[in-house]
Amino acid sequence: MGNIRILPEKVANQIAAGEVIERPASVVRELLDNSIDAGADRLNIQIEEGGKRLIRLRDNGSGMDKDDMLLALERHATSKITTVSDLFSIKTLGFRGEALPSICSVSRIEITSRPADRLTGYRLKASGGEMKSIDETGAPAGTTVEVRDIYFNTPARRKFLRADRTETGHIIDTLSRIILPFTNIHMRLDDAGKTLLNLPASENELNRLSVLFGRDVAVSLIDTYRERNGIKITAYLAPPDFSRTRGDRIYIYINNRNIRDKLVTRSIMEGYGQRLMKGRYPQVVVFVDIDPSLVDVNVHPAKQEVRFHESRMVYQAVSSTIEKDKTDDRWYK
Ligand code: ADP
Ligand code: MG
Repeated sequence: MGNIRILPEKVANQIAAGEVIERPASVVRELLDNSIDAGADRLNIQIEEGGKRLIRLRDNGSGMDKDDMLLALERHATSKITTVSDLFSIKTLGFRGEALPSICSVSRIEITSRPADRLTGYRLKASGGEMKSIDETGAPAGTTVEVRDIYFNTPARRKFLRADRTETGHIIDTLSRIILPFTNIHMRLDDAGKTLLNLPASENELNRLSVLFGRDVAVSLIDTYRERNGIKITAYLAPPDFSRTRGDRIYIYINNRNIRDKLVTRSIMEGYGQRLMKGRYPQVVVFVDIDPSLVDVNVHPAKQEVRFHESRMVYQAVSSTIEKDKTDDRWYK
């Protein structure tokens, strides 16, 4: 008799959750992605105990009807793509249809939702990957997702979570990075009645950068733009005086998706060149706008890495954009 078995769906979801949901900040990232994709322009996020006890995100986006709410918790259920080729023209942050079932498999989740054109909404409750109930309810238009007790059913994973302050720090960092380009959205983060982050809608990224990087940095930022080989680069560069010992203020975006990319980071460093002392990292935001068919976003379950078809072209575009402003007086203030 053979030894191979097909894993029950619950186990499969927990395995997927291991890749997608590393810590509370990963839940926040996935919920935020969904609310942005749903066209929300108002987001209220509440956390307790570093998100370990509670994460609640309320949006005023498109909402879901009852059938969609039930489907949303199924693996590979998405409204965002239908074919593999759609992956190469992606305009949404999500596309894998994995986040909600993953979150659901390792927490207690409650989703309340109402599309604006429906009179009543629904509230769905699930726990450890099992549906508990779905009931009609009054609700504001939009969606509220409440995630409690992350990893309550996998204590071995829960042990890896850090102190509340550390997890809260990760949540703030994640939110800041993702929300920066979506300047039409007003977002607020509260922790037990205390507001940790309040980003009103604004005309451009600068007001936001003032909150995120501090006013002194924001007013010194050098903004620069360049188009090369159809790749558009917009960058906000802090003068070297504001450099840091860590690269934690290097924000990189590909078509408004925040990513981590070693080579783009290196091309930023190259662009700064000798203006930076050894071992120092700049504070910088780089937006790369590129034809979606030239970048593969489906590389990593957490969608934080991409692969470029013509990586050299991207790196050259970035470093030359930063390099070109070398003679700008503002560098030497
Ligand atoms: P993905 O975002 O990759 O499609 P998810 O598991 O994150 O997968 O979500 C599944 C589906 O649930 C989405 O495709 C979307 O249709 C719906 N959905 C999730 N969150 C929201 C939300 N906040 N507002 C409206 N629809 C949502
Ligand atoms: Mg999603």
